[in-house]
Amino acid sequence: MTGRGGRAESRAVSERDLPLGPAFHPALVLFGLCVGSFLNVVVHRLPLGRSIVTPRSACPSCRAPIPWYDNLPILSYLLLGGRCRRCRAGISLRYPFVEALTALLFLAAGTVDSPPAGVLAARLAVVSALVAVSFIDLDHLIVPDSISIPLMVVGPVAAFAVPELLAGAWLTGPGFPPDRGGAVLASAFGALVGGVGLNLVRWGGSALFRRAAERQGGEAMGFGDVKLLAGIGAWTGGQGALLAFVLGSALGALFGLAHIGRLACVARARRSRRASAPGHGALAAARRFGSAIPFAPFLAAGGVAALLLRGRVVGWFDFWIRNV
Ligand SMILES: [Zn+2]
Repeated sequence: MTGRGGRAESRAVSERDLPLGPAFHPALVLFGLCVGSFLNVVVHRLPLGRSIVTPRSACPSCRAPIPWYDNLPILSYLLLGGRCRRCRAGISLRYPFVEALTALLFLAAGTVDSPPAGVLAARLAVVSALVAVSFIDLDHLIVPDSISIPLMVVGPVAAFAVPELLAGAWLTGPGFPPDRGGAVLASAFGALVGGVGLNLVRWGGSALFRRAAERQGGEAMGFGDVKLLAGIGAWTGGQGALLAFVLGSALGALFGLAHIGRLACVARARRSRRASAPGHGALAAARRFGSAIPFAPFLAAGGVAALLLRGRVVGWFDFWIRNV
């Protein structure tokens, strides 16, 4: 019952614009595989400050350029048995994983609530940026400005071009589709909610955990995460930014607990074999890792959920507010 508002909104979307039919889905998956392949290049080269266009990809082991027929998403990995054709060095499973993940997310972006073409294009762009950010943060513990700032800046422009993107977001005003001014305002407000909200959490966190953070020589949450959530908010509005933050934090906390639990088991197993030196127990290890858990992948997962399910969640919000 609670999804009534969201479903009414999605029905309005599909009645206004011709949704892309199921015949379009294989093309979307193929496109996702190719974009995923490109994102692998972005994740590898962007943090190193290298061009993402040239030169051609080469094997990191033997430096041989990779011909196109060995660079087909997933297929080449399977045909080559996960090894370089020339030097037989192993190819990371990460590459086909990113390709499959991107294809899956593209398919979800094209099917959830049958978006019109403009909304779909926006979803694909944001999903791609979020996949790239996640894996860069996993590898380097940074959220590059060259991804989060364009997200923030292009969000309001996209809202102007495709106002449906911000339908139902705070400050859009009544009416469907929302008028362009309202959509731009909602996008800017979403960025503000994401940026200011997370910055408050960050300040609160550093005040509470300052001594622990100083001991580890780091902080619980970087300013890069703040800019990323502002970027997500610019495409999903105020409710979207909150949803991304809540889901991202919940996922991060679950992962953190699981990780600490695993470390504790490992430490106990080691202790049973030989006495461990003080300060090298599970808690110390967990604390060490705790300062270095990348937050962007969790925020990005929340962001994808906000991007695709925002319409429904806005419906729940409205239903809840009307019925309390
Ligand atoms: Zn090689």
